[in-house]
Order: sequence, then C-alpha cells, then structure tokens
Amino acid sequence: MVLDKLSDSLKNTLKKIASAVFVDEKLVNELVKDVQRSLLQSDVNVKLVLDLSNKIKERVLKEEAPKTLSKKEYLIQVLYEELTKFLGGGGSSSKIEMKKKPFKLMLVGLFGNGKTTTAGKLAHYYKKRGLKVAVMTTDTWRPAAFDQLEQLAKKVGVDFMGDKKSKDPAKIFKKFEPELNKYDLVIVDTAGRDALSDELITELNSIHKAVKADEILLVMGADLGQAAEKQAQTFHETCGVTGIVITKLDGTAKGGGALAAAAITGAPVKFIGLGEKADDLEEFRPEGFVGRLLGMGDLEALLEKAKGAISEEEAQDLGNKFLKGDFSLLDLYEQMQAVRKMGPLTKIMEMIPGMSQVHLPKEMLEVQEEKLTKWKFILDSCTKEELENPEDMDGSRVDRIAKGSGCSSSEIRALLKQYKQSKKMVKMFKGGSEKDMQKMMQKFGGKMPFKM
Ligand code: GDP
Ligand code: MG
Repeated sequence: MVLDKLSDSLKNTLKKIASAVFVDEKLVNELVKDVQRSLLQSDVNVKLVLDLSNKIKERVLKEEAPKTLSKKEYLIQVLYEELTKFLGGGGSSSKIEMKKKPFKLMLVGLFGNGKTTTAGKLAHYYKKRGLKVAVMTTDTWRPAAFDQLEQLAKKVGVDFMGDKKSKDPAKIFKKFEPELNKYDLVIVDTAGRDALSDELITELNSIHKAVKADEILLVMGADLGQAAEKQAQTFHETCGVTGIVITKLDGTAKGGGALAAAAITGAPVKFIGLGEKADDLEEFRPEGFVGRLLGMGDLEALLEKAKGAISEEEAQDLGNKFLKGDFSLLDLYEQMQAVRKMGPLTKIMEMIPGMSQVHLPKEMLEVQEEKLTKWKFILDSCTKEELENPEDMDGSRVDRIAKGSGCSSSEIRALLKQYKQSKKMVKMFKGGSEKDMQKMMQKFGGKMPFKM
C-alpha cells in the first residue's frame, strides 16, 4: 500500500500496545518515540512530528480515558484521532460537490507533477460514477501535451478538446465554451513551468478569468517531500487553489512528507495518485487513510470504490459475504469479476478489514482475463448443487465438468483450490489475531469511521 514502511512501523507500535501489560508513562514515551521515528523516516517535517507527538502524549497522560474504553484502547484511539487530524481530518469534507452543470475543474501545478495524467484519471473516475465528462488542454507550451491528453481521453472514453494552433489558453477555452453545456464535468488541463514564476501566475489568472473554474486543484508529486508545503502555500495564496492532489505516492517511501505538508496548508488534499494508470487515483479521506496505515482496514473506501464498478447493493453484498466467510463458488466468480473491474486485487485487499496484515502470495491475487474466461466456461458446466457445495465435488464430477467445459481436469482442480484458499483466508482473518483488534475497534462505536 501507500507508505508501506510507515504502515509497517505503525502497526508494530500497535502490536506493542496490545501486548503491553499495563499503560504507564514509560509505555507512552516508548510509543511516542516509535511514532516519531516512523514519521521522520517518511520524511515528515521535524516540527510537525514533535507537535503531533506532544499532543498524543499530553492527551494520553492528562486526559481521563472514557469509561467504555480500557487505557490501551484509549491509547490507540488517541493515536488514530491525532494522526487523522494531522492529515487534515475533522475539517471540511474533501469531497467535491458538483452542484453546477457543467462543473468546471481546473488542474494547475509545475512541470512534471502529473497534471495531465491526473486529468485522465479524474475523467475516468467521474465517468465511472456516471457523469458525462470532457477534458480540455490549454497547455500551449509543450506540443506533446495535446497528444498526451488526447490519448488519455481516448483510453478512458471521454471527449477531448484542444487547439494545437492557438497560443492563447483563454481563447482556447472561449472557443469551446458554447459546447460545454452538454457535459456534467469539464476538466481543464493547464501548462506548468519549472517554478511558480510571475509569468505562470499571470497565465493562470488569465485562464481562470476565462474558465471561472468551480474547483482548482493543485497537482504535486509526492517526491517533492517537505518542499510540498511551501509550494502548496504559494499556489494557494497566489492562485486560490481549492484543493490538492498528491501524485506518485506509489513511488516513494517518503511520501509522508508531501502528504503531511500539504494537509496543513489550508487547501485540503482531495485526491491521491498511486500510479500511472487511469485507475490509480483515490479520493483522499484522512480517516480511511489512517485506518489503513494502522492496518484497521477501510471497508468504506472499498465500498466507495465498488460504486463505480458495480451497484451499491451488489457492493454491500460483496462486502458482507466476504466478512461472513460464507460464499459459494459462484460468489467467488462474481466477486472476482466485480473486483477486477475495481482495479488490482492487491489494492482492494488492503481496504478490507484485517486483510492488510495478511500477506497473500502474489500469484493468488493476480486474476487474469484468460483465467476468468475459463472459469466462466467451467462454472457454466457445473450444476447448481455443485456451485453451492463445491466441497463435495469428486473426481468423476471433475471429469464430467472438464468434458463439458472444454477445460482440463487440472484447470478445474486449480479453480477449486483457489476457492478453498479464499475461504481459508477469510476464516483466517475472521478468527485470527485480528479478532481482538477488531473487537477493540468496534467498541469505539461512532467514533471510528469504518464498519466491521
Ligand atoms: P504534468 O507535466 O504535470 O502534466 O505531468 P504529467 O501528467 O505529464 O506526468 C509526468 C510524469 O509523471 C509522467 O511520466 C507520468 O506518467 C508520471 N505520473 C503522474 N502521476 C503519477 C503517479 O501517481 N504515480 C507515478 N508513479 N507516476 C505518475
Ligand atoms: Mg501536462
């Protein structure tokens, strides 16, 4: 997941708390030191780290724990709450409300931070949620920018606008303005520079005057580290950005610096980019993010992601079945298919409570198109009874299905094996050491953002 190392070390800290005999000042000090070390390693600014750790310490040592929570549980709750606040949680919602049509979203930022890529990702993201989307390039600086966005638009299946001959971004927008009414969302990509120069500010102001964007997102790479704070601040003050997108969080172990720095600028982090592909974008919610960092899972994010691929009802069902651990072969197939639409299975797993700590073999998570097609043939050749009780399938049945489906017996056995493994895996996370942690989380009741 994002910030693997940070996540691992924070999880270790939680384990330490869970195994401690009692909570005293020594344990709290140790915990705070652990958290400091973890954050510093992720490139978070020293001052921010000290502020945060002091706050945690103060609360745990001075505040009375609520009656419903043990001291240990309270410790975890404080850690969770403070980390969430630290990443901008508890403030206004990061969700972009699109009350107008067309809603105009403009992307700004310096060269190479991922604006154009993000334009494609956002188009994909909102298209999946049912909006009619168009993207427009106003980058008259780099000739390649036009082709880049045009290709991305084609790939995700949204309309593209741009004018290769024009050198005036505002005019390009004006040219297309009369056509925009038919879209729910228009995403405007802009040119960057190497630094926030007066020239860039002038250009952005002129584009903004023409576009009158409803949302201006600053796009910054996680590789900026702590420098992100200054950049976000300057853009925020001079160009009135309404939100931030941190990209390339997949690429650096130190992305915590950019994330934390951006979060304190007053312009909330609204999306994070986790790779180069159209699917590698997530709405940023500090609550869910911290939940995942701490390995608590985040079913809400999973369900949110599922919305684009399958209906809400189906998603709820999918989650419930996973959690209950009673699913048939057919369910497995349906889940695999639904999950495949949502993105790589490895990412989905991280969002299911408990799953993030279960290290699964990579091969198991790689569901290939080809395999799924074969599965469909196999499942089509099964009787209803066989689908519901795959455990009872003996050799002669396997042979019969092989004949019917045109697959080999070993392929059928492989499918059955995968089914059994999935079932075992779900049992493992239901009954394993995670259980206590989950119970603990449940006690927090309304305060915790994820459903178990
Ligand atoms: P722009 O100059 O701001 O428009 O930046 P681009 O969108 O052209 O992106 C610059 C480079 O960063 C490209 O090679 C992208 O593929 C890459 N990139 C963008 N977003 C991400 C991300 O989230 N993760 C990774 N690994 N690469 C990204
Ligand atoms: Mg670009």
